[in-house]
Amino acid sequence: MFPRPFDYLRPTSVAEATRLLASHAEAKVLAGGHSLLPMMKLRLASPRVLIDIGRIPELTGIREENGMLIIGACTTHYAAESSPLLRRHCPLLAETAAAIGDVQVRNRGTIGGSLAHADPAADWPAAILAVEAQLKLVRRGAERLVPARDFFVDLLTTVMQSDELLTEIHVPVNPPRTGSAYLKVPQPASGFALTGVAAQVTLGPNNTLERVAVGITGVSSKPYRATATEQALQGQAATAEAVAQAATQATAGVEALADIHASAEYRLHLARVYTKRALLRAIERARG
Ligand SMILES: Cc1cc2nc3c(=O)[nH]c(=O)nc-3n(C[C@H](O)[C@H](O)[C@H](O)COP(=O)(O)OP(=O)(O)OC[C@H]3O[C@@H](n4cnc5c(N)ncnc54)[C@H](O)[C@@H]3O)c2cc1C
Repeated sequence: MFPRPFDYLRPTSVAEATRLLASHAEAKVLAGGHSLLPMMKLRLASPRVLIDIGRIPELTGIREENGMLIIGACTTHYAAESSPLLRRHCPLLAETAAAIGDVQVRNRGTIGGSLAHADPAADWPAAILAVEAQLKLVRRGAERLVPARDFFVDLLTTVMQSDELLTEIHVPVNPPRTGSAYLKVPQPASGFALTGVAAQVTLGPNNTLERVAVGITGVSSKPYRATATEQALQGQAATAEAVAQAATQATAGVEALADIHASAEYRLHLARVYTKRALLRAIERARG
């Protein structure tokens, strides 16, 4: 099916893009187009105006500034997967990017597009929650930094207003003795996560778990932090028994999605099993 007709605008700066967004109420931002264009072709979305942000230089690239990694919203999944900065300072992000779709999708799709779209089965949200990223939202004349924890509201819904642009993702550089892992069960046709678990741990002086973070995607209508699991492990010895016990709480209070690909019970089961596996791998990597 063809999309409904639309006007196409291509700003060359963030200032121009936010000005266009402020003056076109029925506009949609186009980044990699790998979620928006399928929706337009199915006529689930019919924006009157597309504002293509794909060629704004300030929205692309990854840099390090004062202990933070700054990732431009239009950085492709592939650029993140292959970034030496991410691999060295926050490998969880590179590993997550590598797990997305196939090579064509990774070469066009962007981190900002994935986060803004908020598909409940997308991979990025799990990792973004686990690394405690902050998302920079810019509108004409104003900007704000939103913690990842507060960004996702529900299925395909975030705190972003229609005139706001996600411009950057800010991520702290890992402290020493930090390990991480992203593990997913892909839906065989699309590659989207039936369940995806991102775990990141930092070990203290006596191999205790100084910091534990677990982000889970694919299970419920929005990605979440497995706080009961995290709290059970905080300050504890990093043993397989403690992890196995804590992972049983990874779905505490979670209402799971069910569809033709997986029942709610199966998703909950996967989340608990993959939380255990991701944490064990993260601990192994933190030990070096
Ligand atoms: C065959 C296929 C397989 C896929 N497999 C996976 C997978 O395994 N895992 C996975 O996570 N994803 C998967 N995806 C989705 C893919 O990762 C998309 O690239 C991503 O979801 C959207 O990014 P995009 O840059 O293409 O955004 P677009 O499609 O351009 O935009 C998506 C939405 O976000 C908005 N938007 C985009 N950028 C911004 C911004 N900077 N500020 C504000 N709003 C913005 C748009 O207006 C639109 O509403 C798959 C897609 C396809 C087609």
